Amino acid sequence: MTTMLGTPQMSRRSAVDLGGGVSFAAGHHFTLDPTADLDQLVADSTGPLSVILQVTKRCNFDCSFCSETLQLPDPTLGQLERMRDHLKGVGRVFLSGGEPLLREDFGDVVDMFADEKFIVAVPTNATKGLAHARRIAGKVAFMNVGLEGPRATTTRVRGDYDQVMAGVRALKDAGLPLSLSAVVYRSTLTALPFTYQIADLLEAGKLKLILPLRKGNALDLDEKEFITEEEAAEAFGRLQELRAVHDWTPALRMTTWTPHNEGHMICVEPTGAVNAWPVYDAKDLFEPLGNVLKEPITEIWKRYRFKANHFAKYLGRSIRTTGHTEAVSA
Ligand code: SF4
Repeated sequence: MTTMLGTPQMSRRSAVDLGGGVSFAAGHHFTLDPTADLDQLVADSTGPLSVILQVTKRCNFDCSFCSETLQLPDPTLGQLERMRDHLKGVGRVFLSGGEPLLREDFGDVVDMFADEKFIVAVPTNATKGLAHARRIAGKVAFMNVGLEGPRATTTRVRGDYDQVMAGVRALKDAGLPLSLSAVVYRSTLTALPFTYQIADLLEAGKLKLILPLRKGNALDLDEKEFITEEEAAEAFGRLQELRAVHDWTPALRMTTWTPHNEGHMICVEPTGAVNAWPVYDAKDLFEPLGNVLKEPITEIWKRYRFKANHFAKYLGRSIRTTGHTEAVSA
């Protein structure tokens, strides 16, 4: 069986068949054919479903939960091209940061990956949305905008709400599909229904809830801001109820830091260094795997020990999900 190595066969706006029973759906998530065998999919895999590629470490925000710990020069377009060539076989690439839209040549970076049929998604604080929206429209599967809800909450824990929303409007006006991503503190739990309402108003494909990781700025967070697994389950259940009551359409997903999610992300730094992330007992939660300036991701994949967690998370088996179009999805 082949996995996720096929060329996407449909437009980015509709389902994309990645092989092995895995699809990327219009709701901005992967789905797995219910008859497919996940263990077999992992055993037969030759590369990741999804990677995070940091096209810059720079950012114009200083979020209270930011996990960035060091600054590095931006990779050149030539270096990014080499990384792209070594990432062949990956289904989706998050062109990430830092804040990726700070790169003036971000449109060229998107072209570089979209032209080679990668599914491109962009995590962003949206503040530079106006500068890039029209240039990248039609090439990006979704823009994943960080927002913790109403003005006071977003401005307190992330950065200027009005700057974010101005950028969000520019992205929306250009027709870019949106998802929202919110970091959950104990002090932001009461804002979550408003965040969901905003996601619904924006016709977002999904609202992703993530608990903070103990790295970077989050090391300075008050201990009481870290909720327990039980509180997370309760908050998710409450949002599920509200979703039904208010007929909100965005899918909902929540990632907590259990052993089943350890190391599930593959993060490529501006130097090409590839890391499993987060590895709970590793320095800076990064476990080094190799470098995509020097070797293909298919070689690096062989020494990645969190393959099962990677597939389980991205296929919705190890996180809370609701409202997706398939029974098994994320
Ligand atoms: S979390 Fe993202 S938007 Fe916030 S400071 Fe870090 S890189 Fe910037």
